[in-house]
Amino acid sequence: MSKRILIVGGGLAGTIIANGLCRQLGKQIRKGDISITMIGTSDQHMYQPGLLYVPFGKIREAELFRDQRKVLDRRVPYHIDPATNIDVDANKVTTQSGKVHEYDYLVIATGSRLMPQNIPGMEEGAHWFYDLNGARKMRDALAEFDGGKIIVNVNAPHKCPVAPLEITFMLYDYLNEKGLMDKTEITYTYPIGRLHALEPVAEWAKPAMEKYGIKYETFFNTKEVDPVAKTITSEEGSTLPYDMLVTIPPHNGAEVITSSDLGVGGWVPTDKQKLLREGSDNVFICGDTTNIPISKAGSTAHFEADTIIDNLTSLLTEGRWARNYDGKVFCFVETGMKEGTYVWFDYTTPPDPGPPSQMIHWFKLAYNRLYWLSARGLL
Ligand SMILES: Cc1cc2nc3c(=O)[nH]c(=O)nc-3n(C[C@H](O)[C@H](O)[C@H](O)COP(=O)(O)OP(=O)(O)OC[C@H]3O[C@@H](n4cnc5c(N)ncnc54)[C@H](O)[C@@H]3O)c2cc1C
Repeated sequence: MSKRILIVGGGLAGTIIANGLCRQLGKQIRKGDISITMIGTSDQHMYQPGLLYVPFGKIREAELFRDQRKVLDRRVPYHIDPATNIDVDANKVTTQSGKVHEYDYLVIATGSRLMPQNIPGMEEGAHWFYDLNGARKMRDALAEFDGGKIIVNVNAPHKCPVAPLEITFMLYDYLNEKGLMDKTEITYTYPIGRLHALEPVAEWAKPAMEKYGIKYETFFNTKEVDPVAKTITSEEGSTLPYDMLVTIPPHNGAEVITSSDLGVGGWVPTDKQKLLREGSDNVFICGDTTNIPISKAGSTAHFEADTIIDNLTSLLTEGRWARNYDGKVFCFVETGMKEGTYVWFDYTTPPDPGPPSQMIHWFKLAYNRLYWLSARGLL
């Protein structure tokens, strides 16, 4: 009997897995022995890392999007019909239209979502660049900014752990080039006792911020924003005034995860090496949706996806497990408008950011375009 693979979520992880499986299992798909189906929410695929450049007018919005149908292998039927219930005991997924998809193997890749509404006043008082609307508004506000206090406020959990540092250094360069740094003060706040969750990155960031006179406050867990008084207050009792507040809002996983009782906060308990849902042997979890305590990043999702492609292929064709995920993550880090560095690490090797260079910045810009090949599984 034909084996059915169902992928819920057509973002970065789901798409790479679908395309990769088609490459590995082409013969079986042709013979009708295996089918791959995807359920998503939109006909558009967005390259989220490109949002970082929107506030500075450094990318055209059209460059962030492709038709999902064109990114996805044509052998994968794509239903724009969000999952409303995932029943891992009965091996079926129900969608908004009422359709029920049964599966032999399920991949959950529903990502994460921004929750500024979790913090009183944040939606009204803050800017962010983590979605297109927010990035557009921040671009407009930045164009009018004429000096004053900027706070870059980081809340957890959030995806792309280096993006808050990137936006801080880019803001500095952007305002410096406009001659506004003489009358601008940038303060970076972070919820734990250092500047980044990864200690070597925190140690690297501290002197870099000090070099530019960027202030910082650690142990800052946001309690509320007062959009009228223009202040932000932490649970620890600190209140900071601002002229422009740039926040990284806290995230949750997708609603369907919580409503299907698959994980608190929308994060699915996942075996960090096998990438199987804890308690399941036919439900893989990939990307931001996992509860694995490593960076929620596109690069993480990509390395996880490669592991899942190998294991699903191996299970379906040879009946055996192929390999475990080693926790690999690789991220470019913009350290200004013209320079960048990178970090890579895995479960046993800590990150070690090197000196920034213009070449690494260009690599990041090049990857922003190459992503579309990567999503198709060609890179
Ligand atoms: C500003 C910014 C900068 C970033 N920079 C970097 C970077 O430099 N490097 C890096 O590695 N990462 C970066 N990231 C993070 C990266 O984009 C994400 O970690 C990555 O997209 C996660 O992939 P995913 O497939 O898990 O989730 P997503 O790509 O978000 O895909 C999830 C998909 O699931 C869909 N979905 C949700 N609910 C349902 C449902 N009920 N039914 C069906 N489908 C559903 C969503 O519509 C979405 O298409 C950045 C992110 C942002 C916002």
